[in-house]
Amino acid sequence: MMKLKNPDNLRIGIIGGGAAGFFAAVEIASIKTGCSVVILEKSDKLLSKVKISGGGRCNVTNACFDINELVKNYPRGSKELKSVFHRFSPADTINWYESKGVKLKTERDNRVFPESNNSETIINCFLSQSKKYNIEIIKNYPVKEIEKTEKGFLLNPFSKFAIEFDKIIFAQGGNSNPDFYKLVVNLGHSIVPPVSSLFTFNIDHHPLKGLEGISVDDAEIKLKDSKISEKGAILITHQGFSGPAILKLSAFGARIMNERKYNFTININWLPHIKNINSELQKLKSVNKNKKISAHSQFGLPFRLWQRFTELAKINEDLKWTEASKEKLYSLSEILVNCVFGITGKNIFKEEFVTAGGINLKEIDFKTMESKICKGLYFAGEVLDIDGITGGFNFQSAWSTAFIAARNISI
Ligand SMILES: Cc1cc2nc3c(=O)[nH]c(=O)nc-3n(C[C@H](O)[C@H](O)[C@H](O)COP(=O)(O)OP(=O)(O)OC[C@H]3O[C@@H](n4cnc5c(N)ncnc54)[C@H](O)[C@@H]3O)c2cc1C
Repeated sequence: MMKLKNPDNLRIGIIGGGAAGFFAAVEIASIKTGCSVVILEKSDKLLSKVKISGGGRCNVTNACFDINELVKNYPRGSKELKSVFHRFSPADTINWYESKGVKLKTERDNRVFPESNNSETIINCFLSQSKKYNIEIIKNYPVKEIEKTEKGFLLNPFSKFAIEFDKIIFAQGGNSNPDFYKLVVNLGHSIVPPVSSLFTFNIDHHPLKGLEGISVDDAEIKLKDSKISEKGAILITHQGFSGPAILKLSAFGARIMNERKYNFTININWLPHIKNINSELQKLKSVNKNKKISAHSQFGLPFRLWQRFTELAKINEDLKWTEASKEKLYSLSEILVNCVFGITGKNIFKEEFVTAGGINLKEIDFKTMESKICKGLYFAGEVLDIDGITGGFNFQSAWSTAFIAARNISI
């Protein structure tokens, strides 16, 4: 059995040295005297996702201060997060970091980053706070088994490194392999099957090949045979599509897309602001008469994209507006407002990805983040069936759930 530095104190074990684990540890240790807070991390690296997050800049939260609006950014967990965010909101996150000496800045799209533009600033904050409050950090300690004891929890009971705690916080993050959750399943919890969220789309034989890097700011995209649709920017990539609207669709459609084995159809309206495309095309026909259709981009679309659209509508490059038949204009209108693409797979979005699914939220008391099934067991972060879209929302739920768990343990 391993000995803790202060064996007589209340012992709190935190499984996972990531965002939620460190936040909870610092909160408990800074408030509650006479307790030993220990972070157990399976790898030799601490806060490894924080390091690579936001392209190495760490998008710590989003300056969305209206909680009703904020929760709309969570495809899973929005209902439960409402009360959580009333207790620890993005404004609290900003104050929390600033009180620890971390200067933050809000970018035009509301994403909040350290002023240094470097995730190391956040890592250094956690490491210096841990030192200040004597948090014990044990690296290379994978928790493989947990035994519920009379006093609390015995971790890795059959190893010479077994440690007993009075209370534990589960902050082991997410993973799309269901086996990852077996520790808590063994303690009586159920999980919502985990699947990937926040990914980009692949297309075999991309009809927009050669247009990589072109984006359209205000498009609308629908997942066929579902009620899911998103508006926003779409970026054409080598493999298929990326951009904010695609990532949002991947988040809200994560489960359906998984069920369809990442083979599904999307319909893109490149001009959602245009009410009647057919009458707009007729107007163009009467105004442009002898001009070649493909020679001048319309509706503010990037020129090469417009040219490709005319090719796809089988409009000869010399065809003039006045010569355009009804059928040709109809084909063009379909491509402009109801462009169908068969998605054949997904790809990692390097800036951020998360797991949809995890610990069943019905089994948790969100006032305390304590398990309703196993007393003394608390949860925080991505291990829960909670996930957000990109923009700092995933860290915000990690900080907020960790805050509530920490406050309740500290009572
Ligand atoms: C590339 C990338 C970029 C991202 N960028 C952003 C961003 O800018 N903004 C944002 O809001 N979100 C971002 N996210 C999402 C965000 O990183 C996660 O939602 C967040 O880290 C979740 O925190 P967590 O503490 O729950 O889990 P994690 O940060 O994953 O930490 C869990 C820790 O537990 C450890 N662990 C697991 N199992 C065990 C075990 N059995 N025993 C001991 N230790 C264990 C793991 O090794 C890990 O260190 C990004 C994610 C990725 C992958």
